Amino acid sequence: MVQKQKTQAHGPFVVHAARLRRQIGSRWHEVRRGVIEDLACSGSAVPEGAEIEADVVLESVVGGVSVTGTVQATWTGTCRRCLEAAGDTLVVPVREHFTEGGDGEETYPLHDGEVDLEPMVRDAVLLELPQAPLCRPQCQGICPTCGVNRNEETCRCRPQRDERWAALDVLRDS
Ligand SMILES: [Zn+2]
Repeated sequence: MVQKQKTQAHGPFVVHAARLRRQIGSRWHEVRRGVIEDLACSGSAVPEGAEIEADVVLESVVGGVSVTGTVQATWTGTCRRCLEAAGDTLVVPVREHFTEGGDGEETYPLHDGEVDLEPMVRDAVLLELPQAPLCRPQCQGICPTCGVNRNEETCRCRPQRDERWAALDVLRDS
């Protein structure tokens, strides 16, 4: 009882895997959803309160549990070209091992048969959050001369360039 005191309140990503571990090769499918605070990088962030989903298969292996599947999260940010809102959904493949004594470097920790997927989910999302997001792959950005958002208006600052594009369009259409 006393040793349980230090265990944090069980989050939505904690899987009780003691039964799974009794037989090597046993597998479980788990879908867990929950909020993880402070998932952000310089260019984007998971919105506050947005749930992240882990859809994984846990397999009992010698020395621990392997976890394979995907982590899904939404993000929002500011487009680096046009400075409008940007956002999308990330689907990140994961393939990790949980072992007794794991420290989050080579493997994640396994405590008393409990697999806490949260650190793995956190790492997976942080690695994939875009540092320099775009609102769309072909965003035209803001004209550095006149400040027009070129997604919304045709910029008149560089007619030469526009003509060249127009010529290409004619070629493409013919
Ligand atoms: Zn943009």
